[in-house]
Amino acid sequence: MTDLPFDPGELFIDGGWQPPADGRTLPLRNPSDGSALAAVARGSAADIDAAVAAAQAARAGAWGALTAAERGRILARMGTLVLAQADALARLEALDVGKPLKQGRADAVALARYLEFYAGAADKLMGQTIPFASGYTAFTLREPHGVTGHIVPWNYPMQIIGRSVGAALAMGNACVLKPAEEACLSALAFARIAHDAGLPPGALNVVPGLGEEAGAALAAHAGVQHLSFTGSVAVGRLIQAAAARNTIPVTLELGGKSPQIVFADADLDAALPYLVNAGIQNAGQTCSAASRILVERPVFDAVVARMAERYRALRVGPALDDPDVGPVISARQRDIVGGYLELVRESGLQVAAQAPLPATLPAGGWYVAPTLVADVQPGHRLAQEEIFGPVQAVIPFDGEAQALAIANGTPFGLVAGVWTRDGSRALRLAHRLQCGQVFINNYGAGGGVELPFGGVKASGHGREKGFEALYGFSTLKTVAIHHGA
Ligand code: NAD
Repeated sequence: MTDLPFDPGELFIDGGWQPPADGRTLPLRNPSDGSALAAVARGSAADIDAAVAAAQAARAGAWGALTAAERGRILARMGTLVLAQADALARLEALDVGKPLKQGRADAVALARYLEFYAGAADKLMGQTIPFASGYTAFTLREPHGVTGHIVPWNYPMQIIGRSVGAALAMGNACVLKPAEEACLSALAFARIAHDAGLPPGALNVVPGLGEEAGAALAAHAGVQHLSFTGSVAVGRLIQAAAARNTIPVTLELGGKSPQIVFADADLDAALPYLVNAGIQNAGQTCSAASRILVERPVFDAVVARMAERYRALRVGPALDDPDVGPVISARQRDIVGGYLELVRESGLQVAAQAPLPATLPAGGWYVAPTLVADVQPGHRLAQEEIFGPVQAVIPFDGEAQALAIANGTPFGLVAGVWTRDGSRALRLAHRLQCGQVFINNYGAGGGVELPFGGVKASGHGREKGFEALYGFSTLKTVAIHHGA
């Protein structure tokens, strides 16, 4: 790629671009056709050291000296620049992630919205005065942690950077961001935007590289005071162990097996677009993908038939053609999803519909046929494991109690959707579903800048997004002054 406003072979540290300490690069590939896209910097522990040192200096210097309102103004400028470049960012994400253009544009708009939201929130998180003993005045101060480490995956780089780095900067932290090795161009573009918006040097440092090299070095770094990790459960556990060794807080945003529950009294016309889109969006590579559709038995056949109709009409294609479903991120991911489709065949499960793969697809691209599987047993691996591909399992149920037991019956707990016209039932389920977000008569896979987000059980802990994130990216100090009665 020659038209990038930065050199992907360089890291962004202390407000400037520099080659990695040992000069190594990693190849990025275009998922739509498998072609070489760019050679991106492969950061090492030495680069993470430099990034953390720059962040510490920023905290002690110009960045740490800004008022909350001044930080907000810079974030607002970043948001404006992101919005102005939304089409270019969407194209970058199409090439790098294989994300259809309109989904990439939605991610860029969401990134801008995160920056706007946290720009406005930066000077609105306040401490309290506390009625304490006679002769005392006691109050609390909200303070940044210091240096925050952000390890993000490839599936929604812009949205995840917006929600974690945006909130961390609003609170005055200095950030070291380690994007994913599969796709990191939008993270580097974001660094360029931050620089152009006047973010002081060192407040944001971006070090691409391998998880086990740059990622592990960041997670273990003694100069980091908070870690925000979004990714797989297995790596999340490593991150939490690394955080424990340095006794620092960690936010884990991990995987999911999120259900949408459709009762017989639901408005099916309203539900149908959400049922399918929340499964195939970003080729199913969404942590909050609705990969399980639970349907009450009287409407089971009707829902499967209507979902199947939609599946058969899905357009699969290269990301720049803006299809409904693009490629998955890598040959490895295609093979993992292919393994689950093999399991469907071996288990004799019923494929209700599959979207056709056009003969014109580029041969080197990593495409998977979106697949709807009906009548899956709740305990089957297809209904228990995160597939991270455009595959949905439809599960029948009888009554509310059974729906709840199935919905809660996986190791995960990220998001759930409930479709019913019975308001009391909707509220009962909202209380009893074990997850971090419940959508009633709608479903927001990944959406909702303002809505606190995060998981329970294996889906992680801590909350990002919304105002709530500001509590996670700050620490509370209590001051008690004795002045006499
Ligand atoms: P992954 O855990 O392999 O990688 C995520 C990030 O961690 C990457 O930047 C990677 O380089 C880094 N990493 C890998 N090994 C590391 C190590 N040993 N030490 C430090 N860092 C390391 O995840 P993935 O497969 O790329 O992403 C998909 C997963 O992310 C899915 O499980 C998905 O559900 C989850 N996810 C969750 C959310 C959420 O908000 N809950 C959002 C998006 C994705």
